[in-house]
Amino acid sequence: MIKPEDIIRIGPPQLDGVGRMYFGEIARGLGITLGHLFKKKKTVQYPEEERPLRVQNYRGVHRLNRDPDERVACVSCFMCSTACPAHCIHIEAGESPWPDREKYPVKFEIDELRCIYCGMCEEACPVDAIELTTEFDIVGLTREEMVFDKEKLLEVYDQTKQVKPRKNPKITGYSYTGKPQQ
Ligand code: SF4
Ligand code: SF4
Repeated sequence: MIKPEDIIRIGPPQLDGVGRMYFGEIARGLGITLGHLFKKKKTVQYPEEERPLRVQNYRGVHRLNRDPDERVACVSCFMCSTACPAHCIHIEAGESPWPDREKYPVKFEIDELRCIYCGMCEEACPVDAIELTTEFDIVGLTREEMVFDKEKLLEVYDQTKQVKPRKNPKITGYSYTGKPQQ
């Protein structure tokens, strides 16, 4: 139970004659406004201007990598979809037409709007088939457009393959990210 002596009552400040003119407060407010006027500009006029990206840890739109034979590198192990906390990866596996693997993804979809870009999928993938690129300016007019299917994800790979995306260097051995591959 709260005792009456535990209650602290705070009343309005007692202002004297000068205080009631609010000159001090007005001057302080103007000072803050003027301070913002001369502060270093932090906003950018996107898309004409862009902030430099911290590619070392940036996680953007996904891509599905191709192997050296230009086939989808994914082996449909479901590790990424199991690790995904947002449940936004949907895979349907099929029997592989190639002798070097058992399965391949007949269907592979990622809901880019549902994704929280945590990077768990790329960390979980045993064959480095799924990666998060540094691309961020993706747009769509409908939700359906933002569900990227296998072809779209491979297309992202085709457009970004010259850039090594961010991945955990301790696990992958990648020394740097966001630079063209050597
Ligand atoms: S980045 Fe995270 S939320 Fe997005 S698909 Fe990968 S595991 Fe799921
Ligand atoms: S992308 Fe990687 S983790 Fe996901 S199903 Fe394919 S091989 Fe497995």
